[in-house]
Amino acid sequence: MNRTLTKAVIFDLDFCLFLTSSMGQQLFDPLNPLLDSWSIVSDQQEAMKDALWTGAARDIIPTFNLTVEQSEELLTAYDTLPIPDSAHLYADVVPFFTRLRSKENCPELLLITRGTKGLQQSKLDYLDISKFFDHAEIVGDHREGFSGKREAFEHYLHKLELTGGEVISVGDSAKDELAVGRELGMATVQTLRESVTKDPDAKHHIKSLEELWPIIGRERPAV
Ligand SMILES: [Mg+2]
Repeated sequence: MNRTLTKAVIFDLDFCLFLTSSMGQQLFDPLNPLLDSWSIVSDQQEAMKDALWTGAARDIIPTFNLTVEQSEELLTAYDTLPIPDSAHLYADVVPFFTRLRSKENCPELLLITRGTKGLQQSKLDYLDISKFFDHAEIVGDHREGFSGKREAFEHYLHKLELTGGEVISVGDSAKDELAVGRELGMATVQTLRESVTKDPDAKHHIKSLEELWPIIGRERPAV
């Protein structure tokens, strides 16, 4: 199926491997005192929380015209939100990565997730998922590190001495990892998890990670 052997696969986290909505709206309850202190009306508070579901915290700053001070306060509060016990991976994740890891010709596996560093790290720790990856990276933090996925993807192409054609980008976001992957010559796979809008430009669309075996050119092991 693949003329070029897939040497690395880059995965996204939220709505790709992690059912982000399993954290529930209660995730944002600790932000209430802060938003109340800004005298933001409840409609606006709900709109902000809705926006926080779909994008990184820094992305909502221009939308809601926050001051520099408010932005800092929000990012700090957001970054230290505790992960609720309801949080969980999609059911296919652990079986898939356990099988893939057992293969001798397992490609290099990368997890590159965008968001504020503290919260994304809390998710990785809570979900105990980094163990499946050769490299796990959080990008887009407002204080340090890579500015976005493009910079991170380019960094790893260089570091692993790979061309885009040898790498597959798997994720849900048309604007983020799928667009960046395509720009860098990677084949793209959109995880059509519940609530994900189909990206017609993605090369492949999957509902389960089990559909990745032929796409990455590996035989699925029996056990
Ligand atoms: Mg995502």
